[in-house]
Amino acid sequence: MQIKIIPNDRNNPPGKLADAELHFADPICPACNGDRELTIAETGPLAGAVGKCATCDGHGVLVGANALAGLKLIGFGVWERRTGGRNVTFPARQYSVNGERRSFALLRPIIDTTAQDRVRDLILEAFAEYEEQETSRDAVRA
Ligand SMILES: [Zn+2]
Repeated sequence: MQIKIIPNDRNNPPGKLADAELHFADPICPACNGDRELTIAETGPLAGAVGKCATCDGHGVLVGANALAGLKLIGFGVWERRTGGRNVTFPARQYSVNGERRSFALLRPIIDTTAQDRVRDLILEAFAEYEEQETSRDAVRA
């Protein structure tokens, strides 16, 4: 899974730093580590010879292992907290009851309410990394 950060350059809505997306892919092949091929022999006449990895059939990833591969989940938001620090909002459907606006989170824990923490932390890390890259890019430009 990769996290894509889309910066909120126009500061609209205010306080929103970025949108974030989760991009899903098939897992890297554990046998060849994504190299698509393996060394067949370390010694002897065939030493150093390589062949197509049989575990992943030369794809480098385990094709079909992740039903979500090729899809992305959008609708995450990274926000600046008024009290300092950052907050992540999850994809949600807006609805209203008696004119009062509410939202219903679409990515929910099945049982363990801390299950969201990992995704939240990964998004915050991805945003911090993005910020760092932008800062160093600006330093190069200056
Ligand atoms: Zn492989």
